[in-house]
Amino acid sequence: MLADDVQAKTLGMVINGADRFADDAIRVINPATRTEIGRVPRGTLADLDEAVTAARKAFPAWRALPIAERQRMIAEIGAVMLANVEELAGMLTAEQGKPLSDAREEIGGTGLLFQAISTLSLPFTVIEDTAERRVEERHVPLGVVGAIAPWNFPIVLGMWKVAPALLAGNTVVLKPSPFTPMTTLRIAQLIRDVLPHGVLNTVTGDDEFGPWMTAHPGIDKISFTGSSATGRKVMQSAAATLKRVTLELGGNDAAIVLRDVDLDEVVPKIFWAAFRNSGQICIAVKRVYVDDEIYDAFRDRLVEYARSIKVGDGRLPDSQLGPIQNAQQYDRVLSIIEDCRQMGLAFATGHAPVDTDTGGYFVPVTIIDNPPEDSRIVQEEPFGPVLPLLRFKSIDDAITRANASCYGLGGSVWTRDEQQALSIAAQLECGTAWINEAQYLSPFQPFGGHKQSGIGVENGIAGLLEYTNIQVIVYKRPSSI
Ligand code: NAD
Repeated sequence: MLADDVQAKTLGMVINGADRFADDAIRVINPATRTEIGRVPRGTLADLDEAVTAARKAFPAWRALPIAERQRMIAEIGAVMLANVEELAGMLTAEQGKPLSDAREEIGGTGLLFQAISTLSLPFTVIEDTAERRVEERHVPLGVVGAIAPWNFPIVLGMWKVAPALLAGNTVVLKPSPFTPMTTLRIAQLIRDVLPHGVLNTVTGDDEFGPWMTAHPGIDKISFTGSSATGRKVMQSAAATLKRVTLELGGNDAAIVLRDVDLDEVVPKIFWAAFRNSGQICIAVKRVYVDDEIYDAFRDRLVEYARSIKVGDGRLPDSQLGPIQNAQQYDRVLSIIEDCRQMGLAFATGHAPVDTDTGGYFVPVTIIDNPPEDSRIVQEEPFGPVLPLLRFKSIDDAITRANASCYGLGGSVWTRDEQQALSIAAQLECGTAWINEAQYLSPFQPFGGHKQSGIGVENGIAGLLEYTNIQVIVYKRPSSI
């Protein structure tokens, strides 16, 4: 376990390339044990002002660099992350709770993402080129980007904002969640000399810090990932200075399982799509609609598989699912389970307490058997290891119910019938519709939500362009004046 005083001394914010501490600290808790594992600064408004000033000062030189230079530095950040996977993954598991193998994947995947993003460049279009006039469309950086990350995938979701923002020529102020700030600060230390000082400033703070960022007149854009409720506040606050916003928000993804699937193959895939990271994934499968004809067999296989899964402290090698990340989320998940009990819903599994004596925020894998559509477990995003299975008799009915949500992040269809799969996928009201898998993402694939799951996209060229303004240059040639 990490000693408090060591963390308190070593993990400062990084502002203009220098460590910065604050009078007050945020205590970071290991959710598997509920013990304090470290402290990070509770940044002040003055710290934010300094970070924004440093970012503004660094902006002209950074944007003026040839893009090849920025690409080189972004690839180097990826290399630093890849060279430090073990240390960073250990810290991530300690503060987030996820199994060590998942933490390694998150850190290593983020390193590879930086290397992939470093290969992108900004499009440039000549719209008109005549004897009279030349019209060009180009993309220019916005200025200072404020990046705000959540606690479920603290590294990839923060850093996949940083990479394209920097590539496009912006400078950045990055804020991790107060629940999971340590690994982000450690990365900021490791990469501090890869970039010119002030180009990336990493700050930490409590509940008031995000609103300071969204209201700050020196920040030109907010790229936010978190809940839809907070997303609304971000947009409202950003309106005062007409900041650009990208919002990646909540989801309630439906999986539609047709009767022709191979249960041996599909059941484990759907299990992991629903329960990986203990269900704390925006694009987790959160509702499973199963054809009536195979419903009972599907449910029984899923329950059997779920009972074979080991829930425990993520640092132990045999743990496949870790705890819920924080007390607030733990209470929320328990309240949804309690609501299911009070409504008299059928629990296919989930009654048994989790076999762990660590005192952490553990919740057993819980599957609710065919609850009504209007129950909380179907309507809300539990963001925990609780999943409703729902019967359908007609495909049209399944599609209608899948779409009957204020969310529209992702969705999936499971069948061997390609034509039918493509037809159903096209009818899902969501940003990404997967067929026979879920959650496949790539740095080159735009990712974002429809409806109240968000505004804008991340990744791919479309994601990169969200960190730019279009500028059109119209040149009337002198000879024809
Ligand atoms: P959250 O909204 O509570 O917090 C997210 C971040 O916003 C944190 O850094 C927090 O400190 C900050 N914040 C809090 N209040 C703020 C405010 N008023 N203004 C500005 N910033 C503020 O979300 P969370 O609980 O950390 O994450 C879970 C939620 O995030 C779930 O709903 C999940 O579906 C969603 N999520 C979405 C995606 C996606 O890409 N669409 C990915 C992961 C998580």
